[in-house]
Amino acid sequence: MRLAEGAEILVFDGKSGEWRAEVTQAGKKSGTLTCREMTRPLQMPPDLWLLFAPIKKARTDFIVEKAAEMGAARICPVQTDFTNSERIRRDRLQAHAVEAAEQCGGTFVPEVRDLQKLDKVLSGWPADRRLMFCDEALVGARAALESSESGKWAILIGPEGGFSEQERARLRDMPGTVAVSLGPRILRADTAAVAAMTLWQSTLGDWQ
Ligand code: SAH
Repeated sequence: MRLAEGAEILVFDGKSGEWRAEVTQAGKKSGTLTCREMTRPLQMPPDLWLLFAPIKKARTDFIVEKAAEMGAARICPVQTDFTNSERIRRDRLQAHAVEAAEQCGGTFVPEVRDLQKLDKVLSGWPADRRLMFCDEALVGARAALESSESGKWAILIGPEGGFSEQERARLRDMPGTVAVSLGPRILRADTAAVAAMTLWQSTLGDWQ
């Protein structure tokens, strides 16, 4: 940023809030920032994970950016039966999450995890975390989140091809799963991710 000594910037590390920091030493390759005062306390999101099947690059970037803005605590790309994308650039997606937090004046950055098979994720699923399974087969049904309690949750969004019948059956059988409809229209996966986070945040999250 080519700042000289004496310049001030706002910094955050995702743990200690936001601080006004002064450039107290500026070299060519490194420098020193000294934190002067806290400008904002750490604002943690609710304990919500977003699980989604990566789609095309720009749309995957969009999902990660929106998840950081909407207050997801963790972002987990998952490979489902009908996922086209076999690989993701985790570091690039993490950088998107950081940028989104910076843009929105956030003080927390959700961690982007490596791509994992949905199968494997479900096998090790923590018993105390509920799963909001956004199932396109329920298009047009009622949303069905109202009777749930807040706490530890995850949202699951499928790929453009939707979920396989095998996945659907397994997900529905899991004890902590709430299968949810996102209204009368089938949404694209990126739209569905934002709609699902809106629904969760307004019903069980920190919009209340
Ligand atoms: N190709 C599928 C649609 C997939 S949409 C079909 O035509 O049926 C991508 C993902 O967005 C879905 O897997 C689901 O998680 C979510 N989604 C989209 N619209 C939805 C709706 N109305 N209700 C619940 N989930 C929805």
